Amino acid sequence: MIKRNQNYDQLKDQIDYIKNHILDCKSPSVAASYQNVYRMLVNTYYICTGKIYQDNNINKNRYASYAGLEKNKTLLSRYEQNYLENKSFHQEMFSASLENLSEIWNSYFESDAYLKLYASHQKHFDERKGEDIDILHQYFLEKDKTLLEILKDLQKQNAIYAFPDTVYLPKRALAILNSVENKASIFIPKNTGCDTSYLASIVHELGHVLDFYDLVQRQSNKISGTYFTKSIFAEVLSTEYQMDFYDFLINNNYHEIEARRERALTYNSYLDSLEDASLYACLPDEYYSLVKNNTFTRKELISLIDPEYEGLEDIEDMIASNFNESLEYSYSILLHPIFSNDKKIKDQFMTIRHNYFDKEVMTSIALTPENVAEKAIEKAHTYFKT
Ligand SMILES: [Zn+2]
Repeated sequence: MIKRNQNYDQLKDQIDYIKNHILDCKSPSVAASYQNVYRMLVNTYYICTGKIYQDNNINKNRYASYAGLEKNKTLLSRYEQNYLENKSFHQEMFSASLENLSEIWNSYFESDAYLKLYASHQKHFDERKGEDIDILHQYFLEKDKTLLEILKDLQKQNAIYAFPDTVYLPKRALAILNSVENKASIFIPKNTGCDTSYLASIVHELGHVLDFYDLVQRQSNKISGTYFTKSIFAEVLSTEYQMDFYDFLINNNYHEIEARRERALTYNSYLDSLEDASLYACLPDEYYSLVKNNTFTRKELISLIDPEYEGLEDIEDMIASNFNESLEYSYSILLHPIFSNDKKIKDQFMTIRHNYFDKEVMTSIALTPENVAEKAIEKAHTYFKT
């Protein structure tokens, strides 16, 4: 059984550390990353314990309260500007795949093959016999030994925490990547049974930690702590491992039916994000500041794009995913197939992923809308044979 730590004092230690070292910030960028990590830790500490971390010091320090805030604001507007500059490329990227992927998914959704998965019972792995740990170890040894080292390391540090299961939280699992102390912690569901979705959430969060350590190594102490809060590529690696883990379960016949179902459900939610992201990318620039902080239904988004649109009545009126998440999940569902095909492209991507998005750079490493779509469609066909 993977032990889930329910004592959150170590989080408090991390918060204290930032508070006590806030004067170490030698530049606004460092202050900004201190602030991001601080906020994330305080929020999560509250979610897990119900306790509010009381602190006045951090706000009294001029780096933390002013330079950091200002830097974060500047960074946000730079990311916005970067998005708008590349908007037509994003739009091309999404529309090159969307229609085909939706078609493949829809015919699968209506097939008997899908119905069979849906009607099956959810089986659990036997935690007492250590089935969960055996499977994870086997997968990591096959896919990436670094993940196994990370898992063991987090276990040793007691940094795998129980995350409360409540309908009020938008997330079921989470990773906190503390760039101030280069520490990682993951939070996995507290009470859920040990099913495929639970194991996949562990793999996904460990993927974030691997992404983080890799970035720390490449950037040494220059890491800004902003990659994980603002980059549109922040979900790519974790999603790649998660999807690949379903394949591993299926190929090795470990709860194959459940793994197929989980893979389908995960894929479907990412596909929703891709639809939303392509709607956002069609909006005129002036609506951008409106949509990034507000919730819209798909109907509302479409009427912003085209007030005269005639088929509006036929569209299901669902809430669109939030702007940033839709972008992040779209790139992760689109890029993971090309990476599993071509290690060289993935290696090149790893060297550019933390920079500002640049369509020239994307094109130079063969991540063009056409190439990406080709592999994404190929992969969807293998997932959803009817
Ligand atoms: Zn994630």
